Parts: sequence; structure tokens; C-alpha cells
Amino acid sequence: MPEATIYELTSAGRQGVRFPDADVPVSPLPAEFAREELPLPELSEIDVIRHFTRLSQKNYCIDYGFYPLGSCTMKYNPKVNEEAARLPGFAAIHPLQPEETVQGALALMYTLQEWLAEISGFKGVTLQPAAGAQGEYTGVMIIRAYHESRQDDKRKKIIVPDSAHGTNPATSAMSGFEVVGVATDASGNVDLDALKATLDDTVAGIMLTNPNTLGLFEQNVLEVVRLVHQAGGLVYGDGANLNALLGVVRPGDLGFDIMHFNLHKTFSTPHGGGGPGCGPVGVAAHLVDFLPDPVVVMVEAGDDDTAPLYGFRRPDKSIGRMKSFAGHFGMMVRAFCYISMYGGDHLRDIADYAVLNANYLMHKVKQVYKVAYPRVCMHEFVVEGRWDDAPEVHALDISKRLMDYDYHPPTNYFPLIVHEALMIEPTETESKQELDQFAEALIKIAQEAHTQPELLKSAPHNTPVGRVDEVKAAKDLVLCCWMPDSK
Ligand SMILES: *Cc1c(COP(=O)(O)O)cnc(C)c1O
Repeated sequence: MPEATIYELTSAGRQGVRFPDADVPVSPLPAEFAREELPLPELSEIDVIRHFTRLSQKNYCIDYGFYPLGSCTMKYNPKVNEEAARLPGFAAIHPLQPEETVQGALALMYTLQEWLAEISGFKGVTLQPAAGAQGEYTGVMIIRAYHESRQDDKRKKIIVPDSAHGTNPATSAMSGFEVVGVATDASGNVDLDALKATLDDTVAGIMLTNPNTLGLFEQNVLEVVRLVHQAGGLVYGDGANLNALLGVVRPGDLGFDIMHFNLHKTFSTPHGGGGPGCGPVGVAAHLVDFLPDPVVVMVEAGDDDTAPLYGFRRPDKSIGRMKSFAGHFGMMVRAFCYISMYGGDHLRDIADYAVLNANYLMHKVKQVYKVAYPRVCMHEFVVEGRWDDAPEVHALDISKRLMDYDYHPPTNYFPLIVHEALMIEPTETESKQELDQFAEALIKIAQEAHTQPELLKSAPHNTPVGRVDEVKAAKDLVLCCWMPDSK
């Protein structure tokens, strides 16, 4: 690519930074690292500020508006979390510092491990995994290590209900297991007969989401756990939907052996755009020795005069390291801050309001959208984005049209078992006014679908980028659409 097209905004001689005079002796770079030419953009400070400010305004974010992206729990991220994560004592430490110089950070990690264990009813917690999917991978590797430690080497299958998030079968397959699907019954629960048909002594475990991805509490959860345990398998809980259960139900008490948390969903650490998440994993007592290396332990309990001493330790039968250093520490600080703000007595408010908001919204929109499984929902619900009398309109068109009403669309076409699925998760941080306005937009769009379907088919009309040809966009990616007037 010719140089001029790499940086469209560059203008020879402009400068936005000035380096201070060197305060160390100047020494030449070794020749093998030095370059004659290094094409960098030449821009003034205002050029750069305007460029990034404009870009940020083309983006949709939770600080701008309602973001009902089902399963992703796009709740508001309180700014006090950011202040805490930026405290120099947390932000400026180095992962290779000696343990005795980072006792505050270790105390925070230890306390967060303990809190997550208490919230979920598990015995031990690792904070290492970088996201939910990596938490799943950690969990399934622990399931494998557990069976291997018992020389039980027949267990090659993992059961995954057909409503599961795509990461569940992917994780099982990646960990070397055969994935066996189980159907959902007419009321939205795991079909018990189908489950029983899969159970034998080759089952390593099941990956179960509760509430499931239809937003429904798994009514047979105790029976599913009992049946899988009876067959010698372990029960893995996909904890991405823990927002609905906080302070109400503890997965450990339901008999789950292992579960990942999504701090970036349930505990308000920011996510989206591929940013860093954090997917801690909790395990029951019989799996604590298999946790990744290292976990944070209290080496010496303190007393009135001395603070406790914390350190990193390798669990006896550890599956090894899952992530460099201690994981995404900044996310741990934010989640710690969030849990502290609610306190043990009020964490339950999160789940209560998340469930109330979802049911309120579901009742408003069910007059015009068919609810896939019409029963009391948990923190989210799934409707069909289609009508028999408006056959050309699809869920995708409804989502695109919602952007014209200034909303982020809900999740589309997931879960896979609902035709033209729209999965709506309002979260607890939205007000009644916001929910009313969103319901009104959805209802208006349903009318438009019947009277002016073309309006939906060609939406969005008011966004920086209009309806994209998704095949062309993937094959012929243009990354330079920065111009203020680009459409
Ligand atoms: C988000 C999600 C995951 C994966 O979590 P990531 O942090 O995105 O890797 C897994 N299962 C369910 C049900 C989810 O909603």
C-alpha cells in the first residue's frame, strides 16, 4: 500500500507531542533495531482529539443508551469502579513485584475469591480466566483431570442441552470430549427422557445454564443434577446468567460441582468490543486441588497488631496456569468495588430488579410479539421476531429498525431453538420510563412491519453506516471509514 493511503489525515510537519530532554545519557540504538524510515502519522493534538471524539460518537455504548443485548447483561458500569481501578496502588504495580510488596492487591484478590465462593456456594475459586469462555475451558479441564485422577478413563462425553450458548459445545470439543446434545421440552426445560437416554458410564459431565438461555429457571434442575451424578458425571454450571440468582439461589447448594462467573456481566465490569473480561471459576470441595496455578491464599492469619499475610500457591493437583500472571486484575478491582457497594444484604436487590424489569417488559411487548415460552421469566426473555401476516419481515429487520429509534438491538437468532429469536435482557439498572419507551418503540415497529415493511427492510436510516451487506462486509473489509460524512 502506498504510504499516503495508510494515514489519510497525515500532514507533513504537524506535531502533537513533544518529548522532554533526555535525563539519561544518550546512547545509540544497536544497528539491528534501528530503521532509516518509520512512517508515522503527522498530526496536531486537535486533529487527534477530533478524530477519536468523532469515532466515539459513532459508537453505541451503555453510557449513551439502553442496551438490551440478551445473555450479555449490558448493565451500567458505575464510575466509582473506574476510580478504584485507577488508584495508583492498584494501577501502577507490576506483576513481577515480590509478594510482600503487593499485599493490598493480594488481600483484594483473596477477599474477592472468598466473596464469590460465598455468593455461589462453592469451596474454592480461581480468578485467572480471562472471560466466560476461558472459564468454561478451565472448568472442563478440571472435569477431565478429576476423572483421570480416579483412573476413570471411559468418560469421553459431555452433555450439552440444545439451548446452550455456543461456547459450551465449543469448549467441550476443544477439551477433547465428544459433545452429546439434549433437547428442550415443550415448557423450556431440559427434556428428562432425552437426558436419561444419554447417561451411562462414558459421561464425563453436563454443561448446564440456569436460568437457561431462554431466560427460564430450569425447573428440573435438582433432578438433572441427581441423574448426572448417579451416572458418575460432574455438573458444570454456565454462570453467565447468575445475575438472575444473586442472593437468591446458590448453584453450589443445587449440587453443581463447578461454575464460571462472568465478572463483566454480573458484576458490572465493562465489556464489549473485545475488551478484557474476567471469568473466575468456583468449584466444590472435591475439585479444589485441581484449580489453576496459582490461587491466592492467606499464609498467616493476622491478629490485632499484625495484618494477615497473603501469597500465591499452587494447588496440589493443579491443571496448571490458564493465564499469564494473575489474570485481569483491573477487572477484579472493579468487581470488588461493585460487590462492596451493595454489601451482602443488598446483592439480592440486583436479581430482584433484573427479574422484575424483564417480566415488566415482557408483559408490555407480548401483546404484539409472540413470547417463545410463555411463563414467568427470569432476567431475560425470548420473543419471535416474525408475524404470519407480515411474511417478508425478519428478526434482523426489527433489530435494524430499532437503531433508528436510538436503541441497541437485542440479541438476534439465539437461542437457536427459537424461530427468528429476539432475546431481550433489560438488566436491573434501567428505569420504568426507559422500559416504557423501549416497549413503545417495539410496538411501533410491529405496526410498521404490517403497514410499511420497506421501512424495516432498508433500516437503519439514521446511523453513520446504513444496512450493510454482511457477506461483502466480511469479505471486503474497509477499515478507513473515518470521514465525518462517510455513510
Ligand atoms: C456470555 C456467555 C458466555 C461466554 O462468556 P464470554 O465472557 O463472552 O466468553 C457463555 N455462556 C453464556 C450463557 C453467556 O451468556
